[in-house]
Amino acid sequence: MSNILVTGGAGFIGANFVRYWNARHPADTIVVLDALTYAGNVQSIAGLAGMSFIHGDIKDTNLVDQLLADYEIDTIVHFAAESHVDRSINGPDAFIETNIIGTHSLLKAAKKAWLDRGIGKPHRFHHISTDEVFGSLGPNDAAFSESTAYAPNSPYSASKAASDHLVRAYHHTFGLETTTTNCSNNYGPFQFPEKLIPLFMINCLTGKKLPIYGDGMNVRDWLYVDDHCRGIELVLQDGRVGETYNVGGGAELPNILVIDTICAAVDAAFEANPDLARRFPNAPAARGIPSVSLKTYVADRPGHDRRYAIDEEKIRSELGYSPAYSFERGFATTLQWYLNNEPWWQAILDGSYNGSSKIDAKQIQA
Ligand code: NAD
Repeated sequence: MSNILVTGGAGFIGANFVRYWNARHPADTIVVLDALTYAGNVQSIAGLAGMSFIHGDIKDTNLVDQLLADYEIDTIVHFAAESHVDRSINGPDAFIETNIIGTHSLLKAAKKAWLDRGIGKPHRFHHISTDEVFGSLGPNDAAFSESTAYAPNSPYSASKAASDHLVRAYHHTFGLETTTTNCSNNYGPFQFPEKLIPLFMINCLTGKKLPIYGDGMNVRDWLYVDDHCRGIELVLQDGRVGETYNVGGGAELPNILVIDTICAAVDAAFEANPDLARRFPNAPAARGIPSVSLKTYVADRPGHDRRYAIDEEKIRSELGYSPAYSFERGFATTLQWYLNNEPWWQAILDGSYNGSSKIDAKQIQA
């Protein structure tokens, strides 16, 4: 039995992890600490039994000290971050504050609670990071492994790289029991509609353009969020302290193929269910026009990494991980979730999420 502090648990992956852990480890206590930035949404975790929600900032060391003591926390799973590359290009400061200073603040609090007071073994500080810290691959380069040299290219990935180094240093220097996972691009339910898959699905439904960066041939390895949660669970349970593990989805795809998949799936959903045309009258598919008609090529993102690919041999061989979801299955599940949970994303589009009573937790459907 564990008492787990989940930072960023109202964000996309954090909320999925809280739901995943809550369903599989019902005896554990989960405390979510989240600042509810634009990316956090309390509705994503509302109504879960055995979970406490604390609205606060990971940089508030006194608050974190208090939470670690009050809830006798033995495990921190650290998701909280500024996570969108485009925003890091337009305004890097928040990324430095949250991803570097915020992570350091948590590490200090964990060290104080678990090492300086000498009461906290075994304990675990698990840090969620990204494959973007490794930089960009050419078409024939070997996939990123845990020993690939760091070469971050955006303010986002540079801030995540810095946080990874701090976690490593707190293990090496002080003996804090840490693990880190570097994962590829996640997708699934509860993802904020600024990231490619939810943005493009919703744009197909609402009849807005699909802006494609550059030639659309940037390649990402797509990881269904439940598979990621399973990878984190394996590392928490059996991962070696001080180690890092890559987690991928085994689905390396160019963006344009993902976009074409989204368009085709939305068109097929409208064909199969005539009620969708009534619900989404602005969708081209409602008038029998293919969703691909919304595709628009736009100037590339500055410094856009060309390809990420994950070598996940380590987590497979050491911990028995393998992704359960093909991209086809994961995407079909995701589209169905967004079709079933329109109030969740409409509240984001109209700005009424967080503090609004518009969505009831019971309205969130699988
Ligand atoms: P997200 O942007 O959806 O959620 C981030 C959450 O952190 C939000 O709930 C936000 O309110 C919270 N937060 C931000 N600043 C905070 C602060 N100072 N104090 C407390 N809470 C704060 O992010 P996500 O997509 O769920 O990503 C979670 C983690 O996974 C991040 O560390 C990210 O770098 C990493 N990651 C994400 C992906 C992906 O594809 N989404 C891929 C690789 C790694």
